[in-house]
Amino acid sequence: MTSTIKTRFAPSPTGLVHLGNVRTALFNALYAKKQQGTFLLRIEDTDAERSRDEFTQQLMADLRWLGLDWQEGPEINDSNAPYFQSQRADIYARYYTQLEQQNAAYPCFCSAHELTISRKLQLSSGRAPRYSGTCSHLTPEEIQHKLEAGLQPTLRFRVPKNTTIEFNDVVRGSQRFQADDIGDFIIRRADGTPAFFFCNAVDDSLMGVSLVLRGEDHLTNTPRQLLILQALNLQAPDYGHISLIVGDDGSPLSKRHGSQSLKDLQDKGWLPHGVANYLARLGHTYSQDHFMTSEELAQYFELSRLGKAPARFDAQQMHHWQQIAVSKLDHENLWNWLDKNTRSQIPVSQKEAFVTAVRPNLVFPKDADQWVTVLFSDLICFESEATQEIQTAGKAFFEMALQAIETSGTNWSELTNLLKISSGKKGKSLFMPLRSALTGKTHGPEMGKLLPLLGKDRAIQRLKNAYSLTE
Ligand code: GLU
Repeated sequence: MTSTIKTRFAPSPTGLVHLGNVRTALFNALYAKKQQGTFLLRIEDTDAERSRDEFTQQLMADLRWLGLDWQEGPEINDSNAPYFQSQRADIYARYYTQLEQQNAAYPCFCSAHELTISRKLQLSSGRAPRYSGTCSHLTPEEIQHKLEAGLQPTLRFRVPKNTTIEFNDVVRGSQRFQADDIGDFIIRRADGTPAFFFCNAVDDSLMGVSLVLRGEDHLTNTPRQLLILQALNLQAPDYGHISLIVGDDGSPLSKRHGSQSLKDLQDKGWLPHGVANYLARLGHTYSQDHFMTSEELAQYFELSRLGKAPARFDAQQMHHWQQIAVSKLDHENLWNWLDKNTRSQIPVSQKEAFVTAVRPNLVFPKDADQWVTVLFSDLICFESEATQEIQTAGKAFFEMALQAIETSGTNWSELTNLLKISSGKKGKSLFMPLRSALTGKTHGPEMGKLLPLLGKDRAIQRLKNAYSLTE
């Protein structure tokens, strides 16, 4: 069965992709996958000054990193190419001509200054500012005259009067807008480049997009886009406007709230599956709360589970999914995930044992560094809680520990059994001073796994250091 569902992501490559925009891509990709449809990527690079090829390259790498492969778009499938709006000028020109011929669009010669004054006047008399229609009734002669004088017009869409635009938003339900509230709007700038409303709508239709999931900041653009498509007799997609992401203070998510670019997240060692498990639950609910594969994330994704209220970004939750993603890494991948510099300090023969010992304590690759120092260097830094544990245990405890380790070597259970008998201590008061002495910390991976990595000589040295701390 072939599905006709086609969703898309249509970013403007004017900066690095952040969590907010990639969540939009994720929802579109998940829905297409669920429906065995197509996820399309289109690059909206009409702003020549701000669009950069390196951002396009990075955003494609980011989408692939997160597992959001597109089935149609740049580098993949060119059935509706080109997928770069900067290369579609000829296509747009045909539709501009059609609208002009239908008298559904007209050239506007108003200067920026004139428009500002008109706007201010409307605002000061308590009206919502919209284009006053100055150029909407120019005669062909007047137009010709202005063109000959070298004026460069914009092209405005003539919004029909007394019309109601209605559509069913797949997230927000039935929507109604009055066309009379919308002023005639620009669809081509004076420099000839297409305006967002126009090329975005035309491309969705020409590329056969059936559903557009996008941020609710676009909701008021949709009636304009539907009017354009209707005038051109082009099929409109369904639209769904997803709630924006906000920080804990309720304002739109920004760097201040910890929203980072995907590139930053990758560089810090965030794992794509954890990020996807978090983002798919941000403004969308699942009844399943286990860590899902990308197939499951798609299978259980439901448009009806997209929320209308702003989605609150929760850094702790994102950490939670990262932690699970780390625990799912196999040995080899976990090893490769560690920083190169970290790996270079671990003896090759200890690689496997090191990974086994420390993995429950890692959330990010850099978390391994402290254990590398503890295990493979002679440096020891006692945290204050550890010093306290050592001092409470007292000198005699460490004398006995030094005797016990001569027999037990790096066998932790033997060491603690012997010491339990000689010192009469058990539980926390046995384990904590030992852990503190051997690692300098009161928390960490299982001692049974750390001690063999530390080695007998270094362990003896640490116990002696602890002994001297008790004086
Ligand atoms: N290029 C637009 C943006 O990045 C696309 C909006 C849309 O999804 O329709 O905001």
